[in-house]
Amino acid sequence: MDNNEFNEYNQEPRQYPRQNSQRPRKRVSKETFRKRQFAALCVIAFLVLLFVILMAKACSKKPSSDSSGGDAVPAESQTTDVNEEASTEDPAATTTVTTTTTAPVIDPSKAGAIKLDKYTVYLEVGQAPALALITEHPDGMEEADEVWSSDHPEIATVDEWGHISAVSPGTCYVTVKSAKDPSLEATVKVVVAGEPSLEQTANNTTTTTTTKEPQSARAEAPAPSKINDPKAHYEGDVLIVNKSYSLSSDYNPGGLDPTCSEWFNKLVQGAAEDGINIYLSSGFRSYDYQSQIYNNYVGIYGQDTADTFSARPGHSEHQTGLAIDVNIIDDSFRGTPEAEWIAAHCYEYGFILRYPEGKQSITGYKYEPWHIRYVGTEISYALHDIGPDATLEEYYGIDSKY
Ligand SMILES: [Zn+2]
Repeated sequence: MDNNEFNEYNQEPRQYPRQNSQRPRKRVSKETFRKRQFAALCVIAFLVLLFVILMAKACSKKPSSDSSGGDAVPAESQTTDVNEEASTEDPAATTTVTTTTTAPVIDPSKAGAIKLDKYTVYLEVGQAPALALITEHPDGMEEADEVWSSDHPEIATVDEWGHISAVSPGTCYVTVKSAKDPSLEATVKVVVAGEPSLEQTANNTTTTTTTKEPQSARAEAPAPSKINDPKAHYEGDVLIVNKSYSLSSDYNPGGLDPTCSEWFNKLVQGAAEDGINIYLSSGFRSYDYQSQIYNNYVGIYGQDTADTFSARPGHSEHQTGLAIDVNIIDDSFRGTPEAEWIAAHCYEYGFILRYPEGKQSITGYKYEPWHIRYVGTEISYALHDIGPDATLEEYYGIDSKY
């Protein structure tokens, strides 16, 4: 059909001179009619094609625009779903996935998004209140919406504010839900002493982030007075003595700092109330005495080994009068109920475990479960909030190297 037309059209110039005035007009009109017919067909075909394309587009867009009502669904969750479930870019596939994603009314990213300061709590019978504080409510949830419950109230109870009380030895789970949306929840494991898992205390609370302690239960152990030594290095109110920072050989307070002493006595008393016997084994040590100890160890073990557990003179925290070694000063103290108690409670009295396990590259010393350092509760709580193995070096971003 196309070819014929073109052939006929091409012949036209030769025919023109021989035709009378009407013939060409008639013939032209016929040609024009055919061309117009063809053009019309083309236009119709084009319109039909356009219509089909528009319909296809409209169909693929419709579910997406419906989903715009659920703005709360984060963009990334849609993207993820599409990538995982539909690897092609076929609009139909996207449609299916998007519809599935937007089906639930509740934003899936919010489910279980109540964040707590700790997810395991270790208590002793009768101990209360321990507050499992919420550090972050999901959007749309308020403190008033909290609904607390214990799955075994005979082990530990919980009141409407989240105060947990230990009743009898065992393990149970305390859950907080949102009154408005019960799909939002968080659970705290409560271990009441009497269980062997108590020794896990230190490890399990490593992930603790921002602990908010009940103000009423928090003691106010002040920072110790600043010492009078020109070599003393302070970070804030905290005297730093480690492998990088030392004291003068003639700095000698003659004994423990009085504030440190006072709060150590309170610590001993607090431990006794929990049935734990804590006693002082080594407190203040003078520069000269530390020299004797250190040189003795160097003679036995060599300097490299001695440096991992004994401070060079001038670099010992014991010279500050702010450090105390409790109970047994060797590895046999590790894992004892006394060591566990110190690790879990010394911060409440303004002390920190100065050389936690696994931090030798940071503090410069091996794990010493017996060595505590008085800093006052402001700093001890700040470190405790970071975790039971937080160090002054990490907190202040300082080194401990000879
Ligand atoms: Zn020590």
